[in-house]
Amino acid sequence: MNDGNCIFCKIARGEIPSSTVYEDEEFRVILDLGPASRGHALILPKNHYKDICDADRETAGKLFPLAGRIGAAMKKGLGADGFNVVQNNGASAGQTVFHLHVHVIPRYEGGPGMVSWEPGKAAPEELTETAEKIRESWE
Ligand code: AMP
Ligand code: ZN
Repeated sequence: MNDGNCIFCKIARGEIPSSTVYEDEEFRVILDLGPASRGHALILPKNHYKDICDADRETAGKLFPLAGRIGAAMKKGLGADGFNVVQNNGASAGQTVFHLHVHVIPRYEGGPGMVSWEPGKAAPEELTETAEKIRESWE
């Protein structure tokens, strides 16, 4: 459950120092070295999972409540007005460190806002067909 070459394994287990904002038996929350805003944090499970699909459901199920608590602390402690919860899976989705992590990015009025994308267009038949493909692949 630990990959010897993984930087986030070493940070999560305290073998490499980090700016830790929270720690319990299963998780460490650190500040991102290249923050998108002041207080940008990363939730790291102490066990190694490469992404959300690789994690067991019990572990994955703890990430969202933790993100909410961190966001609330950012609002209280840093004066953040809101926050984004972002989690990238796979290189095509922008994942660069292949140890599961959740970004919690505080946002401040007047500063850059949400993690954005260009809204596209989809015909109703295409939505129906796409939904069917996902439904059929459910595990
Ligand atoms: P992702 O693109 O979702 O894989 O995000 C990886 C994040 O990890 C980026 O925002 C990096 O700035 C951050 N990062 C990489 N190495 C470190 C490190 N040693 N300590 C803290 N944050 C890091
Ligand atoms: Zn790891």
